[in-house]
Amino acid sequence: MKFSTQNLSPNNTVIAKFGGTSLADFEAMSRCADVVLSDPKTRLVVVSASSGVTNLLVSLSSGTLTEDERTSALAKIAQIQQNIMSRLSLSDEVVERINHLLAQMNDLSLAIANGPTAAFTDKLLSFGERLSSTLFTQVLLARGEQAVCFDVRDVMRTDSEYGKAAPLFEDIANLVEQRLAPLLSGNVVVTQGFIGSDANGATTTLGRGGSDYSAALLGEAVGVAQINIWTDVTGIFTTDPRITSQAYALKEISFNEAAEMATFGAKVLHPSTLIPAMRKNIPVFVGSSRDPQAGGTLVLNETESKPVYRAIALRREQTLVTVTSMNMLHAPGFLAKVFTILAKYNLSIDLVTTSEISVALTLDSTGSNSSGQSQLSPELLVELEEICQVTIEQDLALVALIGNAIDSSYGVGTRLFSTLDDVNVRMICQGASPHNLCFLVDGEIASDVVSRLHSSMFEDNTQGVA
Ligand code: ADP
Ligand code: ASP
Ligand code: MG
Repeated sequence: MKFSTQNLSPNNTVIAKFGGTSLADFEAMSRCADVVLSDPKTRLVVVSASSGVTNLLVSLSSGTLTEDERTSALAKIAQIQQNIMSRLSLSDEVVERINHLLAQMNDLSLAIANGPTAAFTDKLLSFGERLSSTLFTQVLLARGEQAVCFDVRDVMRTDSEYGKAAPLFEDIANLVEQRLAPLLSGNVVVTQGFIGSDANGATTTLGRGGSDYSAALLGEAVGVAQINIWTDVTGIFTTDPRITSQAYALKEISFNEAAEMATFGAKVLHPSTLIPAMRKNIPVFVGSSRDPQAGGTLVLNETESKPVYRAIALRREQTLVTVTSMNMLHAPGFLAKVFTILAKYNLSIDLVTTSEISVALTLDSTGSNSSGQSQLSPELLVELEEICQVTIEQDLALVALIGNAIDSSYGVGTRLFSTLDDVNVRMICQGASPHNLCFLVDGEIASDVVSRLHSSMFEDNTQGVA
């Protein structure tokens, strides 16, 4: 399919982001090409690594694999590329480019085996997206599309916090204007999610699942009309459809509600995705690249409906840290000291509850860092123990009810506690936002808790797509 690129200003262009499963193999990539070709407004495409590749790269980055394990992981990554390449008629130059990427990846994995560093890790993790973007560009070219592959590290400027780098918005806006925007009028530009570069040109990553965030950041910088997130589900569901078959896709959800969902564990969107979209008021669409006709969910500033219960999010692998000190009794400044130590180790706190002499707080330990390392380092614990007693409980799960006016609606607590009257609710937080109520339960019963709450909350709800 061909179309005219005239009259395409950034404001009526659309950005499409495809996740790992959407790019797992040639057939999946072809479906993504269908999606791109079916909408002439799609000028910028952000891709994740093909499914499984980033996990293999993370295992390689640990530097702890045996030589056999290392070669086997590399071979699996190469095989995924070969399978796609075998379905395309590629020029020698393109084959050479891919082989060069694979060779560089091999060399780096060897260097890491001899001494891992955070900088090496991010560089190694970048190969997943660099390979998939090269190949997806070829898939589009083979379909007659005028496509170019663009190295996002030329515009996605971040700080140097490897594994969870923070984007530098103003730099990104300037670089996009100079280097990327001019390409959009004549081409479909394919680029990498997840990766960026710091001021010294070193490769960084935005944290696991960060390609959604990349798409939103680029969409903001270009000023697109819509950010389309194409994944393996037909939208944002009332809860993770893997937990209960009763979950259904939402037609619409507000930025605030969706941001809370992403923050509280709905993996379908990286937690930071909605921040750039909200700043520029850009609608975000979530749909399935396998079934684009099924429609999806639109995330908007203002929704028509504002139900008290919109969705339930679940975040596993929660750590509850309780700090206790008799000195806290009527003593100003204790919390400040605790938070200063946590900030020094770059930990962000999620939930906090306090009693007279203790404070309980949660830290998210799921994949916030690209290499998945534990955030509670022994050094941090030593420093905390100098000022208080520390107790750590692991393997908890955070369940969040998401909706509207939860803080001022009657009966929310009654419904929660009557549905879960046989469950030990370990900690509960409500009131900071009208959009959520969340609580901790034992990780083992979390799915059951979510299913039961879902049945109770959505039995008479009619706003789903299905
Ligand atoms: P991608 O690789 O496309 O980025 P992800 O695996 O990161 O895809 O996210 C999609 C997955 O998110 C779905 O397969 C689903 O299991 C999970 N998920 C969790 N919560 C929700 C939800 N509320 N709605 C839809 N999907 C959800
Ligand atoms: N490939 C990266 C990951 O698996 C980024 C992404 O898929 O969004 O985490
Ligand atoms: Mg994802």
